[in-house]
Amino acid sequence: MQFKLKPLDYPTNALEPQIDARTVEIHHDKHQAAYVANLNAALESSPEFGTHTDLLSLIKNLRAVPEKIREAVRNNVGGVWNHEFYWDGLTPKKTEPSAEFKAAVEKSFGSFEKFKEKLLGECMKRFGSGWGWVLVNPDGTLKVVSTPNQDNPLMGEFIGACGCEPVLTIDVWEHAYYLKYQNKRAEYLENIWDKINWEKVSERYAEAVGM
Ligand code: MN
Repeated sequence: MQFKLKPLDYPTNALEPQIDARTVEIHHDKHQAAYVANLNAALESSPEFGTHTDLLSLIKNLRAVPEKIREAVRNNVGGVWNHEFYWDGLTPKKTEPSAEFKAAVEKSFGSFEKFKEKLLGECMKRFGSGWGWVLVNPDGTLKVVSTPNQDNPLMGEFIGACGCEPVLTIDVWEHAYYLKYQNKRAEYLENIWDKINWEKVSERYAEAVGM
């Protein structure tokens, strides 16, 4: 039941200058690695809970986790999965959204510019640490939300059932930007926008709506 630190698909300096190599190294090799270690430690402390190899099924079934380790699992399984999803949603390449995703954005927010404003606004409003998310509703429209700490929109009753699928997340913990941007979260958000992997987001969208 050992979860492992998922390697990045690109070198740590690949997102420069928007996201500097030192930030990526510490973020991935220290912070994310700690969530992996702490998740394993929590699960190992409750062997009666059995073997677990699927992050998402833990996320979706937190109620099944023994109460004495539930909070640790909640914080750390979110800490692992959210980071994997975050890194996979970024890329050094210049990418474009699919026609289908663009159409969903226009239907849901009016325009891509308004979508950006809404998502980055949601990320700015998140008090303290957390995540901004783009979610697909069952009808194929999109919405933006944010979650505190390492919570994930799929944590069901723990944060309110969303009936949705995430297609993009942005880490707004200070550790994601503080070395380069200090207190300037807005500047980090404006810059990370250029590194979003719209091909990946579009693939996730297609999968979520079953195209
Ligand atoms: Mn983080």
